[in-house]
Parts: sequence; structure tokens; C-alpha cells
Amino acid sequence: MSSAFPRFILHFGVSSKPSTIPRNNVFFLFSLKKRRYTAITPFLSQKSSEELLVVVGGGAAGVYGAIRAKTIAPNLNVVVIEKGKPLSKVKISGGGRCNVTNGHCFDNLILAEHYPRGNKELKGSFFRMHSPKDTMSWFSDHGVELKTEDDGRVFPVSNRSSSVVDCLLSEAKQRGVSLQTGKVVTTASVTVDGKFHLKIEKRTIDYVEFVKADYLLVASGSVKQGYSLATQLGHSIVEPVPSLFTFKIDDPQLAELAGVTFPKVKAKLKLESGGRGIPHLTQDGPMLVTHWGLSGPVILRLSAWGARDLFSSDYKGILYVDFIPDTHIEDVKSILIAHKNLFAKQKVLNSFPSEIGLVKRFWKYLLDREGLNGDILWASVSNNAILSVASQLKHCSFRVKGKGQFKDEFVTAGGIPLSEITLGTMESRIRSNLFFAGEVLNVDGVTGGFNFQNAWSGGYIAGTSIGNLAATALLKEEVVR
Ligand SMILES: Cc1cc2nc3c(=O)[nH]c(=O)nc-3n(C[C@H](O)[C@H](O)[C@H](O)COP(=O)(O)OP(=O)(O)OC[C@H]3O[C@@H](n4cnc5c(N)ncnc54)[C@H](O)[C@@H]3O)c2cc1C
Repeated sequence: MSSAFPRFILHFGVSSKPSTIPRNNVFFLFSLKKRRYTAITPFLSQKSSEELLVVVGGGAAGVYGAIRAKTIAPNLNVVVIEKGKPLSKVKISGGGRCNVTNGHCFDNLILAEHYPRGNKELKGSFFRMHSPKDTMSWFSDHGVELKTEDDGRVFPVSNRSSSVVDCLLSEAKQRGVSLQTGKVVTTASVTVDGKFHLKIEKRTIDYVEFVKADYLLVASGSVKQGYSLATQLGHSIVEPVPSLFTFKIDDPQLAELAGVTFPKVKAKLKLESGGRGIPHLTQDGPMLVTHWGLSGPVILRLSAWGARDLFSSDYKGILYVDFIPDTHIEDVKSILIAHKNLFAKQKVLNSFPSEIGLVKRFWKYLLDREGLNGDILWASVSNNAILSVASQLKHCSFRVKGKGQFKDEFVTAGGIPLSEITLGTMESRIRSNLFFAGEVLNVDGVTGGFNFQNAWSGGYIAGTSIGNLAATALLKEEVVR
């Protein structure tokens, strides 16, 4: 490889507009006002013949992709630029346990169905190239023992996300990946010789670096700066909106039930904007009452499938919940009437059919909603009241007022459209040698480990493609020499 500008960096004060002077293959940059620089440091101690991959973002996709590229092409210089702490989302994920992937979805077509954005596109080669099984093998081969819980979620046996973080960081170090933290890639452009000219800033001090990279992997998650880099390089962005959030419901009586869980409900969301008849706006699974409304897998799944429509509806709609989805309404009525006949002399609040599997606090909530005094005896309950209670159990409505006020949403829907990427390589269709992986793409999954799986698969495929390109380039160069 011949390079007009190798990847040398100068560290400067950036108090005035700099001038650049390329000389002897070193990219000089002067601060005119102060003429101050801290050091002349090569970005990497590399031979001029070695190529450079810069990875923007030290999250799951970026670090996994960097390791993979360096594994295939050990001579490739691989630098990950991370503005904060590396793998910080992995660290906090899954309540500190890290739900690495999903172990119940080994059919790739079914797996793809778990991605509200990406379900059509991901049915192809994507998961074939790196599936949840491959992820699990990768981690166990690298010393992280995993377990699959009953619902399919895969966690480290240690129940600590640090097992995953430590494994990735140690593997990156061992392979020779350079991880540079506290730095932000702020601009990107393409040079006449088709390389990537990147500006890297350190926010805490007056500091700037310029780097010229042969390959660029943008794995910046849902951070705005990442979208900005993509647009600077010619890509478009599907407007980012939150996904995977809880529902805010103003109902003080419901809030008193905070902590109550329902192992299986069927919930249907009707949006003010209509929801365009999305079949996925009906979901079943566990639900949880919180201080501000409703949560749990069923709600998070609805929020994911409805993310765009909920955004357009200003997060307003009606949620209909069937608390006993496996029992027909006629059977519910019969159960209640039979109970009335059997327990005629008992107070309604103190005695309710065990078949419907509800907790007393929720039973009271239902009675209150129906205006039924819990102190009356079953014998005094009219058949009409019984029909109303049955109907509440099967079709209880809640007015959704907004989305839960989490500081950070779990994931972002939107990003770079998949039509602008070749999923078999993760390479941009717009610029050669430009790759994307992870949440920066318009892909997001429901809860259960699917979002990390997108990051592992995308990072792995991108790393493989870049590694192969670099290995081929080196081979060609050796043949020429
Ligand atoms: C609280 C929480 C819990 C979660 N739990 C789970 C779970 O258990 N299972 C699951 O599957 N998913 C989970 N997710 C979702 C999962 O964390 C993300 O889908 C995943 O981290 C995406 O990986 P990524 O590498 O694409 O992006 P990220 O992990 O977001 O990494 C991107 C990195 O790029 C850096 N960056 C961005 N722009 C720049 C720039 N210009 N210069 C330098 N650095 C930059 C960022 O600082 C960030 O570290 C959770 C998310 C949250 C918020």
C-alpha cells in the first residue's frame, strides 16, 4: 500500500483555525494563534505499509468487530475510538447481568421476527453468518460460561455483566486492538485516494487529532455524532425515536398495585393515530404494575412494535388487557357464578375463584372499578355485576398517557436505512470500505437479548469483511514486492 499521508497525529491547542502542511509523509497541523502543541506522536506505531481500520464506538458492535478484523488480519492496525467508557451499555445491561443473546431462537426466520425494524431484511444471510449459537460458542470458547433461562434469555453463569466486558477487553488487548477512550470522532470525509480523513477531539482538553484510515467501521449506537458522521459520508438517517419503554397510566388505584405481576396477559394497544392495523399491536406475556403505569415484557414488546406510531400519537392510546387469556369469557362467567353459589355467605372481597389466578390486591382493584363494595356477600351480587367483572377480566381498558420516564431508552428505532448497506458484508452501498454495525442502523429488537445479537452479528460480519479486505491487500502488496 502506498500512502500519501500516513496516520501520524499531532496534538494541538485548537484555539484558532489551524493550517496543515503535509511534509515527509507526516500530517502537520499548526495552531496559528498559539503555535502550541503537546507532542508529535504517531497515532500508531505502524509501518507505512500497514493499513488502518478506525472503529467509531467501543460498544458491543465496535469491540466485537475490531476483535474479529484483527483476528483475520493480524497485520491490520485496528483502533477503536470511544468517547466515554468502553462497553458501558454491556456493563449496565440486563440489570447488571447482561442478557447476551437469546437461546430459544435457532431458526433464523423466527429470529428475524423479533426485530420490529429489520424483520424482513434480517431473514437473509445476516444471522446465517453469525447466529445466537455462534455468539454463545464465541463467549464460551473465550471463557465466559453462559446459561439459558426458561424464557430464552442467555446470561453469564456469573450473573455479572463484567464477565462479558472483561472477556471482550482482554481479547481485544491480546489481539493488539488499540482502544482509545475519552476521544470523539467529530468529522469524517473522503480523500481523493478514497481514504477516510477523520477529526478526533478530546473534549476535556484543547486537543485535536487528524487520522487517515483505510477502513472505517461506524458502530456508534444511537449517539447523534455517529449519525452525523454517516450523513457527512453520504448516508441518510431514518428519524431516531425511542423503543422499548414502559407505559405511563394515570390511575392512582392502579399505582397502589405497584409490584404486582401477571405471568400471562394478552394486551392490545389502540393508538390515537390508528396504528395502521399493525398485527403486532397485540401481544401476550408477563406484565408488571409500576408506580407510574405498566411494564414487563408484554408492554416493552408493544412499545417496540408500536414505536413509530406511538411517537406520532404522542404516546397516547388505549390498552386493552385480557388478564386470563386462556379462558373464554363464557367460562369466566360460569366460574364466577359457580363461586357465587358455593360461597354465597362470604364477603366478595375475601373470597374469589382460585381458577382465575389473581392476587387479592388486584381483585379489590377490579371490584372498585366496578363500584362493587367488597364487604357485601356473594349472595347479594347481581348476575349483571358478575358479567361486568368477567368483562373487566377479559377486556380491561387503560388510558395510556405517555411513555415511562426512563432517563435513557433501552434502544432507539431509526438510524441508517438497511437499503444503504449490503447486509452480507455490512459495507455501505454508498462508499467502499465504509462499514456499519449495531444500533446505528435502522434495526432494533424486542427484549430478550435480540439487541445485543444484532450488535454481535453486525460487528462480526463487518470485522470479517474488513479483515478479508486487509488480508487480500497485504497479499497483493507482497506479490508486487
Ligand atoms: C439500560 C439498558 C439495558 C440494556 N439491556 C440489554 C440486554 O440485556 N440485552 C440486549 O440485547 N440489549 C440490551 N440493551 C440494548 C443494548 O445495550 C444495545 O442494543 C447495544 O449496546 C448496541 O450496541 P452498539 O455497539 O451498537 O452501541 P452502543 O453499545 O451504544 O455503543 C456505541 C458506542 O459508541 C460511542 N460513540 C458514539 N459516537 C461516537 C463518536 N463520534 N466518537 C467516539 N465514540 C462514539 C458511544 O459512547 C458508545 O459507547 C440495553 C440497553 C440499555 C440502555
